[in-house]
Amino acid sequence: MRDKIVAGNWKMNLNFEDAIQLATNINAWVADNHPIAQVIIAPSSIYLQTLLEGVDEQYVKIASQDIAAHEKGAYTGDVSAEQLDSIGLDFAIIGHSERREYQFETDEIIAAKLKQAFKYQISPIFCVGEKLEERESEKHFEVVKSQIVNALKSQKAEDLSRLIIAYEPVWAIGTGKTASPEQAQEIHAFIRKVLNDEFGTDVANNTSILYGGSVNAQNANQIFAQPDIDGGLVGGASLKYEDFTQIISACK
Ligand code: PEP
Repeated sequence: MRDKIVAGNWKMNLNFEDAIQLATNINAWVADNHPIAQVIIAPSSIYLQTLLEGVDEQYVKIASQDIAAHEKGAYTGDVSAEQLDSIGLDFAIIGHSERREYQFETDEIIAAKLKQAFKYQISPIFCVGEKLEERESEKHFEVVKSQIVNALKSQKAEDLSRLIIAYEPVWAIGTGKTASPEQAQEIHAFIRKVLNDEFGTDVANNTSILYGGSVNAQNANQIFAQPDIDGGLVGGASLKYEDFTQIISACK
């Protein structure tokens, strides 16, 4: 059985007080509604330690939004996997399309970040997804396959048991446009086939594949009902308590 997961990517939002308040409220809601999907929150890195201490990890896990590609040293502003592990962090978003775009992260850099995460037993939420022009020219299968193979081919086979994938079509992130449930299912099934062909049946069957891209309280039910969609990575709607808790409820 694969884990059902709903992860909230807070991006560069919320001040300290609001972040604590929202995390505390979500923690209390999950405690009241347990058992439910695994809930993960990814705040800005300056809040990680406070939130790790402030929520009950039985109910809510905390993730970083990124991880450094290097082990340690002169990389001003970066936070290493070892440092994140040393404060008790178990999850990290890696390869988000905003980092691919604004920080010029390539598949090679993302592969190095995944390697660091695995080395310190951090489970990566590894993001893949095509741009609008790639979907329109029907290159989306090819693009997503190469993102997966390029980032994972150099990883140790045993580490892939920690892998979580988030399929996030770039054209659906923060735009209000969502892939239809059928479009999302089609590519999730394709991702599972790629995992099967390249890394074996166990990896294909055990990897949770999350959908991300304008998931909200209205569309979550239909998206999560698809057989190869194991939950969601949620941006904008994860900042609103009512919406996020409804989305979690939809993930059964
Ligand atoms: C995201 O940034 O991972 C995301 C899915 O954002 P949104 O839900 O706002 O589209």
